[in-house]
Amino acid sequence: MSTHERTASEFSQDADGEPPPSPGADGMIDKALDVQREWTNLIISWRLAPKKEEEAANIVQKMMSSFLATGHDDALDGTPGGEGVNPKKDQSSEITKKAIQAKVFPSKIGLKIKGVKKIKKGGIAINTDLKEDIEKLIEEFKKIDEIVNNNEIIKPLPRKPRIVIYGVDNDLTKEEVQENLVSQNNDMTTEGFAVLSSFQGKQGKNWITQLNPDVYQRIKDRDRLNIVWTRLKFREYLRVMQCYKCFRYGHIRERCRNDESCVRCGKGHRSTNCEKDMKCRNCSFHNSIFATKFKTDHLANDTNCKIRSKEIEVLRSQIDYGQ
Ligand SMILES: [Zn+2]
Ligand SMILES: [Zn+2]
Ligand SMILES: [Zn+2]
Repeated sequence: MSTHERTASEFSQDADGEPPPSPGADGMIDKALDVQREWTNLIISWRLAPKKEEEAANIVQKMMSSFLATGHDDALDGTPGGEGVNPKKDQSSEITKKAIQAKVFPSKIGLKIKGVKKIKKGGIAINTDLKEDIEKLIEEFKKIDEIVNNNEIIKPLPRKPRIVIYGVDNDLTKEEVQENLVSQNNDMTTEGFAVLSSFQGKQGKNWITQLNPDVYQRIKDRDRLNIVWTRLKFREYLRVMQCYKCFRYGHIRERCRNDESCVRCGKGHRSTNCEKDMKCRNCSFHNSIFATKFKTDHLANDTNCKIRSKEIEVLRSQIDYGQ
């Protein structure tokens, strides 16, 4: 992984302590999924009248259905917010997928499908951007006997809230971090608690930790957490995926198939040493397509970027905050 994906500061949300997904075999569907996701986000953020929004979503959905029908299998990670379908009899994921796609038409029920991926035991995993869409999809499946009789429908639990704790002593092991966090902070319990991974920060290691929703609620407004002899800052950890080659959202550099783009001016050159006026390519793109007036005089990875806020909203919709 390049250092870019690891870089995190207290002001940035793109701390990425997880390994990148392996590059896909064939990029075409991946790319289409990126585009579809981007469009879906744009449609939501444009705040259209509901009827118009539905119309726009249907057009995107049509594009989507046509490439789903090509039966590509290496599309997306099985991210939370998704649902799985496992066949009861022995069959390949491909057949399961075709069978489902022959019966359910997302555009008819107004669904925004983010991706379909083969999983173990001949199953498929279906991802949507919106939590409610999974419920809609399950309702739809239940209406179709052939799907209910032949498949097991699994709905994974939503992701638990995560925090990142900044500047932990480099010498502490994962187990020591875990032990000390639980014993030194009121309301921290081991239930649902997991120290996940770390990345190097300026003042020590930054540790990503998963919490139970109720624990998260009780500690989220605290200023700091105690760990050994220190009291350390923390914040919610959201894994915003932004590519450090083209600066679009939803994929990382390793999977990028776009041309290089400057973080500062949005033109097709490397970001280093650019002295042109700032112009966020994501906000500019949105403005040009939807005639919005989002401010564009910021870097493409600025934390106040409108398109970035939309990405964060989508991530939050996939987390169980327990309320
Ligand atoms: Zn890219
Ligand atoms: Zn530039
Ligand atoms: Zn922007």
